[in-house]
Amino acid sequence: MSNVLVTGGAGYIGSHACKALLAAGYTPVTYDNLCTGWQDAVKFGPFENGALTDRARLDAVFAAYQPVAVMHFAALSQVGESMTDPGLYWHNNVAGSLSLMQAAVRAGCLDLVFSSTCATYGDQDNVVLDETSPQHPINAYGASKRAIEDMLRDFEAAHGLRHVIFRYFNVAGADPEGEVGEFHRPETHLIPLILDAIDGRRAALTLFGTDYDTPDGTCIRDYVHVWDLVEAHVLGLQWLAAGKGSRVFNLGTGSGFSVREVIDAAAAISQRAVPVIEGPRRPGDCTRLVSGSVRAERELGWRPARSTLERMIGDAWRWHQSGHYRK
Ligand code: UDP
Repeated sequence: MSNVLVTGGAGYIGSHACKALLAAGYTPVTYDNLCTGWQDAVKFGPFENGALTDRARLDAVFAAYQPVAVMHFAALSQVGESMTDPGLYWHNNVAGSLSLMQAAVRAGCLDLVFSSTCATYGDQDNVVLDETSPQHPINAYGASKRAIEDMLRDFEAAHGLRHVIFRYFNVAGADPEGEVGEFHRPETHLIPLILDAIDGRRAALTLFGTDYDTPDGTCIRDYVHVWDLVEAHVLGLQWLAAGKGSRVFNLGTGSGFSVREVIDAAAAISQRAVPVIEGPRRPGDCTRLVSGSVRAERELGWRPARSTLERMIGDAWRWHQSGHYRK
C-alpha cells in the first residue's frame, strides 16, 4: 500500500483523514508533535512524533516511509488566539509549512494536499464566496494560511511541488462510526461548546455578538461534515496522482446558518435546553462566511451528502456522549 504522510494526523480533521485514507487503500503515516493532538486518535497507521520545524526528523521520516504524497493539516487554528498572539501563528503555521515543503522537495515527494480556510477571504458581506473571490483575511490565522498558499505557488513554479488547496468553511460532526471525533483543549468551536453547555461540562455557551447585520443578529457560517471533508481530501489526492495539476477548491455546502439557528438545532436534536449568555463580539469574527462549492462538486465529483445540521450535530452529540470523549 502507498504511504501518505499526514501532518496533524492526531488532530480532529487529520485523524478522520487517516481513517478515510486507510479505507481508500493508503497507509496514513501521522507526523504530529501532539501540541494540540492526541496520540490515541492515531488508530489507522504508524505514528511519528515530530515538529514541522525539525529538519532532520522530517528528512528521516520521508526516507523511512517514502510517501507518495503529503496531507498537511498540522496548524494552529484559533481565530481569537491568532489576534492576541499572531507571532505564534506566523511561526507555527508559516515557518512550519515552509520547513515541511522544503523537506518534501528534498525527498522528491511532490504531491501535497493542503488544509486552508475560508478565513483567507475575510469579511465580504452577503456574497457566496467562490475560489476566485479576493482574499483579504481579517485575522492572523487567515493571514498565515494565505501566506502558505502563496508559498505553495512559488514552490510549484521553482520545484514542481504540485498541490491541491482546500479552503474549508466550518468543519463539524464526528466519524459516523464513532471511532474518532472532535476534542480540543481548550475548546473554542461552537458546536462542541454548545454540547458541553447542554450536558453540564460548562455552565453556559457565551454567544459572541448579537448585533451583526444578519436576520437574527448573530454570525452566519457554512458548516460541513468532517467525513464529507476528508472524503474530498482523498479525491484531491487522486486528482494529483492522475496528473491533473494544482487546484484550489472551497469545501462548504453553500448554505449558511446563524449561531442562534445552530443552538436551536442542537436543542432539538439533544432534546435538552442550551444555557446561553449573550456576550460581546469576538475580535476577528467575520459576519458571514458561506461557500460556493460548485467547483469541488463539478471537478472532483464531491458531494457533501452528510452535511446537514441534523447529521453533523447528531454525530457530534453521539461522540460527545461516548466513552471516547474525554471527561
Ligand atoms: N461562537 C460563539 N460562542 C462560542 C464560540 C463561537 O458565539 O463560544 C460563534 C463565533 O463567534 C462564530 C461561530 O460561533 O460566529 C463559529 O465560531 P467557531 O469558533 O466555531 O468557528 P470559526 O468561524 O471561528 O472558524
